[in-house]
Amino acid sequence: MSVNQQAHTGPPYGQPQPGYQGYQQPAYGGQSLPGVPQSQYGAYNGPMPGYQQPVPPQGYFPSLGFPSKGSPVSLNSDTSSLAPNFIGSLRAPPTSGAPPPASGASHPSGHLAYSQFEHGDVQNGIPASAAPMQRPPASQPFLPGSAPTPVSQISTFQQYGPPPASVQQLRNHMAGMTIGSTAASAPPPAGLGYGVGPSSYPPTTGAPRPPAMPGPPLPGQTVAGPPPSSQPNHVSSPPPPSSMAGLHPGPPMSGLHGPPPPTHPPQPGYQMQQNGSFGQMRGPQPNYGGAYPGAPNYGSPPGPPPPPKRLDPDSIPSPIQVIEDDRNNRGSEPFVTGVRGQVPPLVTTNFLVKDQGNASPRYIRCTSYNIPCTSDMAKQSQVPLAAVIKPLATLPPEETLPYLVDHGESGPVRCNRCKAYMCPFMQFIEGGRRFQCCFCSCVTEVPPHYFQHLDHTGKRVDFYDRPELSLGSYEFLATVDYCKNNKFPSPPAFIFMIDVSYNAVKSGLVRLICEELKSLLDYLPREGNMEESAIRVGFVTYNKVLHFYNVKSSLAQPQMMVVSDVADMFVPLLDGFLVNVNESRTVIASLLDQIPEMFADTRETETVFAPVIQAGLEALKAAECAGKLFIFHTSLPIAEAPGKLKNRDDRKLINTDKEKTLFQPQTSFYNNLAKDCVAQGCCVDLFLFPNQYLDVATLGVVPYQTGGSIYKYAYFQLETDQYRFLNDLRRDVQKEVGFDAVMRVRTSTGIRATDFFGAFYMSNTTDVEMAGLDCDKTITVEFKHDDKLSEDSGALLQCALLYTSCAGQRRLRIHNLSLNCCTQLADLYRNCETDTLINYLAKYAYRGVLSSPVKTVRDALINQCAQILACYRKNCASPSSAGQLILPECMKLLPVYLNCVLKSDVLQPGPEVTTDDRAYIRQLVTSMDVAETNVFFYPRLLPLTKADVDSDSLPAAIRNSEERLSKGDIYLLENGLNVFVWVGVSVQQGLIQNLFGVSSFSQISNALSTLPVMENPFSKKVRSIVDMIQGQRSRYMKLIIVKQEDKLEMLFKHFLVEDKSLSGGASYVDFLCHMHKEIRQLLS
Ligand SMILES: [Zn+2]
Repeated sequence: MSVNQQAHTGPPYGQPQPGYQGYQQPAYGGQSLPGVPQSQYGAYNGPMPGYQQPVPPQGYFPSLGFPSKGSPVSLNSDTSSLAPNFIGSLRAPPTSGAPPPASGASHPSGHLAYSQFEHGDVQNGIPASAAPMQRPPASQPFLPGSAPTPVSQISTFQQYGPPPASVQQLRNHMAGMTIGSTAASAPPPAGLGYGVGPSSYPPTTGAPRPPAMPGPPLPGQTVAGPPPSSQPNHVSSPPPPSSMAGLHPGPPMSGLHGPPPPTHPPQPGYQMQQNGSFGQMRGPQPNYGGAYPGAPNYGSPPGPPPPPKRLDPDSIPSPIQVIEDDRNNRGSEPFVTGVRGQVPPLVTTNFLVKDQGNASPRYIRCTSYNIPCTSDMAKQSQVPLAAVIKPLATLPPEETLPYLVDHGESGPVRCNRCKAYMCPFMQFIEGGRRFQCCFCSCVTEVPPHYFQHLDHTGKRVDFYDRPELSLGSYEFLATVDYCKNNKFPSPPAFIFMIDVSYNAVKSGLVRLICEELKSLLDYLPREGNMEESAIRVGFVTYNKVLHFYNVKSSLAQPQMMVVSDVADMFVPLLDGFLVNVNESRTVIASLLDQIPEMFADTRETETVFAPVIQAGLEALKAAECAGKLFIFHTSLPIAEAPGKLKNRDDRKLINTDKEKTLFQPQTSFYNNLAKDCVAQGCCVDLFLFPNQYLDVATLGVVPYQTGGSIYKYAYFQLETDQYRFLNDLRRDVQKEVGFDAVMRVRTSTGIRATDFFGAFYMSNTTDVEMAGLDCDKTITVEFKHDDKLSEDSGALLQCALLYTSCAGQRRLRIHNLSLNCCTQLADLYRNCETDTLINYLAKYAYRGVLSSPVKTVRDALINQCAQILACYRKNCASPSSAGQLILPECMKLLPVYLNCVLKSDVLQPGPEVTTDDRAYIRQLVTSMDVAETNVFFYPRLLPLTKADVDSDSLPAAIRNSEERLSKGDIYLLENGLNVFVWVGVSVQQGLIQNLFGVSSFSQISNALSTLPVMENPFSKKVRSIVDMIQGQRSRYMKLIIVKQEDKLEMLFKHFLVEDKSLSGGASYVDFLCHMHKEIRQLLS
């Protein structure tokens, strides 16, 4: 199976589209776009049987249409005796009668994740950029901004230099030593509508803003020579002990990196100062004398030694500020994709996209939108060239889904040589009779049925009528040539496979799952206007043996068949195993009623695992269809069977060369099984409920390689965890998914896709195969040069995904993206996207731990980022400012975000993190999109007590540091997996009463898994915030109440990622110092 199939030439297919009028470019102008395909395409698409996102019935009412439990039934089993029939009424699942939270269940296809960060405009703490900006008059000639290299320094981050002789001089120094986050050294390209030098900053006149100096003016200093010439020597003070702790205490740098000041010989001891401290100080000026034996009195104010200085966190790049600025600058206008190489708004900005020829950033985001023309440049910069692709991403309702194009039996038009699909960048020539491929330059005849005349500009006159000529994203209906065995696929099947061992039964899990399935089966994915889902369902339960169920509609009661020979798994029944839900409704309901009773008294604690997957696989094979297995599993599979595992957890391996084995599967059995699953289109979603180690690294292999998902609920307790689990299950069952998918990324000459990250399987070097691909799954693709690129032609990507829809229709989804190419490094750095870069780097590192010691991986990450920043510093920043830390505007958050990756549980586990947690997170991150990695590594922290109860907006986020927390406030922190509500010890009693319904701080229970429903504005507001945030994430997050100074606070502090972590992770300030040192080493 491959997307690279020979185009089939078929009979001509009607060219003219009479009556088509609506699809015109101008129509985009400001009017809202319909959320479903416009009917005008019907003219040549033919009918589009419901190509739209499946719309489930409104609301989620589990009892809807559910038959009443009938008369007693019994299960017939051929090999096992059954528990007494269950007749009595089951209690309703505690949550299923309630309406779905926020939007989780009622919008299964997930119009959820795009409206993030709708918070206000204020930030906690005063960012440095909010300080008044005044350029000291005398400083002008000496400012880096006025140096020949047009670096405009954004003075958000102030450099801390040795104190000069006066406030004025001090200011000069401070200005000159800005940790510049510089805008690029040339104006942004015209026409993009996006100046990289952000308009939200104070006017960038080339002069940095002097910092506010909290310390008193320093009298009596003498600094010879003009400030600029002395800058390189004064650039930084010795590392303050507090801020440098934990950093490499290597020898001081010797040698300066810039040209020595011509007018001003280096003073003894200056080199000693090159230690990477910067930013403005808090409190009094430090005593330099103590630090510099060579210049004991240099810069030292008289008087007692002041407290150790530290870098002011307000003076270093703030993620919150960057997010806010982007929201303010780019959130109001739609992002129109008509221009090559445009950098989209950040993932944290809520914006609309209008497709005018390039794929929406919801489908593809790149690390850079301007690629170096040569591989030498790319190597020099060390900026990875990668695209993060989410082929089936959910769009907000205001945006148009990709149109479905049907070329009939002839199939899509493709390049003869490289097989690229028709797209807006193909060039029609010779009056429209041939087209030249934009990827490989080969010329291909236009099939007669596809011929159209060109207008005077060389554009086909039907340009705007055809999505594949005018849009970045669209779909083709695939012909039989694109189908396995040249046969159109059958609709897929879902098989529910429930662990019924002792733990699963005892915890109430089995009953919960069965109750939920009774209603959830009415919400299987369906296409458009289809009355019911085409998906068939089947049921298996298991412990050491497997139980298959015949739920054929003609049966009065379900029948059970037990397979106890798990060594050679087979499916004991074909007819009646996979059924239509509506047809077999009564039998299924009866089965789901009885399963919990049948195993209620089980003593079986052992489970098998691989045979369960094998059983599902065999069932799909027998039915000749693709599908998904939903496996609910509780323990390490130690029962005698293929794929049996042993407990090999060993935390002592952490920080040793053998640590990598903790991430590797303990047997290759599952890799081979995964391969078989992919070949059949059998995707596995795994729900884990462990009470101890169950080897996620091994159990996760099949879900991971088949494009499935893993969910983990450690120490599952019905009361506290069922809501979260049910929400995840509902969303997982209902969400949009494609099966039997193959993705190929084609590129224009000069670059090619060389590496892939995500949940998939590859049997060759180009095709990414996924048994299933859902709307949340993301594939990161890295590109390398294989030739020179040209600035004129730019670079093109085309991602083609061949898949089977949930109704069994074979389709191709195409996404195109055009990028700019540059011969100047500054252009590269001006068009990077740090969030995407971090997504790539995290995935790269998380794969690295499979083969290399974790420390090696961490060091490589630091080194690569230091090289990226050093290259910028050397080639794009002002030469007069050597020794400063100057960050590219687009990458000024690279250090803080990189530090978060380095401190993450996979790369630097805290004592509370289990081996399974690490394996779980490693696999999870590998499929995350950019928005998910962004909030995962730098969690969102909101002051709930600052929320405006009368508005819909969220309170403004604050930075992730303990010092931003006030003990009189309540905060929410979320990272996509957990939501913490942190309560300060001095919170007003009234607020506690309103939110928790108790009269004092001490009475707040941190066993709460939801906030109590209280009828007051504050409680309503907070719950609506939590619901809103839950709705934006692809998983239901666990709610954890944390009281200040309580023991759970340790867990919470782990997520305050700007602070030093308990596991030894550096604070942001310290890490920035460290990066500065690394960069200087590279430059020397
Ligand atoms: Zn081609």
